[in-house]
Amino acid sequence: MVVYYIGIDVGATWTRIALASQDGEIVKKIVMRTPQEGDRYTIANVISDKIEESFRDVLMDVRAIGIGSAGPMDLATGVVLNAPNISIHTFELARPLQERFGKPVIMANDCIAGVWGEKVLGFGRGYENVVYVTISTGIGGGMIVNDTLLLGKMGNAHEIGHIVVDVNGKMKCGCGGYGHWEAYASGANIPKFASRLIEELSLSQEEKESQIYKAYKDGFLTSELIYSKAKEGDKLALRIVEEVNKYNIVGFINIINLYDPEIITVGGSVALKNKELVIDRIVEGLKRAPGIVTAQPMITPTKFGDDVVLMGAIALAMKPPPNLVKMLRYLQYY
Ligand SMILES: [Zn+2]
Repeated sequence: MVVYYIGIDVGATWTRIALASQDGEIVKKIVMRTPQEGDRYTIANVISDKIEESFRDVLMDVRAIGIGSAGPMDLATGVVLNAPNISIHTFELARPLQERFGKPVIMANDCIAGVWGEKVLGFGRGYENVVYVTISTGIGGGMIVNDTLLLGKMGNAHEIGHIVVDVNGKMKCGCGGYGHWEAYASGANIPKFASRLIEELSLSQEEKESQIYKAYKDGFLTSELIYSKAKEGDKLALRIVEEVNKYNIVGFINIINLYDPEIITVGGSVALKNKELVIDRIVEGLKRAPGIVTAQPMITPTKFGDDVVLMGAIALAMKPPPNLVKMLRYLQYY
């Protein structure tokens, strides 16, 4: 008998839907814009219509549906609650899909899904202590400790982007807090932190002639520009990248001391598009960093690229973590 799984990654801008084989290989993938207006059922309805239209012929053979969504959420009811980055802030996901297709829906937040994907299908296979970190528009993580997926009371555990990495709280985070990792090193916030650095550092003549300095003056500084100029050897861009990495290294030290992982996989556009300037430098920095009270873990880019949450959603459907299943109260209506 042929068995399929469906994985869904609901992000702020893009939603990815995949049909996967029983081994977790993606057979067909759809990428669509996440609906930006509507009511609490719009997103689930649009996704359901897309699934029906695209996978109609094989729906009979789909065993389960997995979802990794931007959060925060209430896992028990399968509802995304007050998501800051999605235009429809609060929406139902799990139950409408479950009712429409008559299949069990296993849902988690995007990074929790991500780490489960690493454990079941990625570089985390065979390890009992796995961490997934994403450095993208924001910073987030998922953790497996002693083979247990960490969830928290509502499924919102380990929002690592909001750990304090600067006790002086120089930068304000999107959440309203000060000194949070994400405020220094996420794609959305690097330009603000870079501008602050440019204002505070004494710049050499060469640095003042940098295109980064000009972009700052003109108000067009972006993370992409900073990393692309750093790759070309621009002194000011490299200095900014180095400052950003100081906070990345502090973030990783905290993660290592908190969870004692065997392996950390890293994803997210900022990290994956700039592996040498981000991941390699974190690895180098950690070798020299004081204050790690356990053995160093292996650190590697994810092998899934942009599909890490999608692969996580597939993995949730294929092999639902028992402690997560226990939390999903809506599953009893399946
Ligand atoms: Zn924050």
